Amino acid sequence: MADCIFCKIASGETKARIICEDDDTVAFLDLNPQAPTHVLIIPRRHIDRLSDASEGDAALLGKLQLTAARIARDLSVEKAFRLVTNNGKGAGQSVDHLHYHLLAGRKMLWPPG
Ligand code: 5GP
Ligand code: ZN
Repeated sequence: MADCIFCKIASGETKARIICEDDDTVAFLDLNPQAPTHVLIIPRRHIDRLSDASEGDAALLGKLQLTAARIARDLSVEKAFRLVTNNGKGAGQSVDHLHYHLLAGRKMLWPPG
């Protein structure tokens, strides 16, 4: 999608510190990390947010979560990490391309606020 920063990262047009990628997903370091480990995991295909995903996206959504779990293992934070998606402006979503935040390396607060 034109003018979507995460589509541009997925296509390589905009640089990011890529952690891993495959045909369906890309994971890269957040530009403004909120924890010692802060990775963003996105589908290559543009979906605005989780509430726009459909039944046909079930495998893709599963893959995004399994990718996050694998990255957590690879980064040795699998015992304590948080995986979160902000769905909509009111929930803190600032980039309208579905993404999961993988956060780890500090004490996580609850409720998240
Ligand atoms: P949201 O607020 O939508 O849940 O999360 C968007 C995240 O994308 C933020 O944590 C922000 O720091 C990150 N971000 C925004 N623009 C860029 C960028 O150009 N490159 C990278 N690596 N991260 C970005
Ligand atoms: Zn996009």
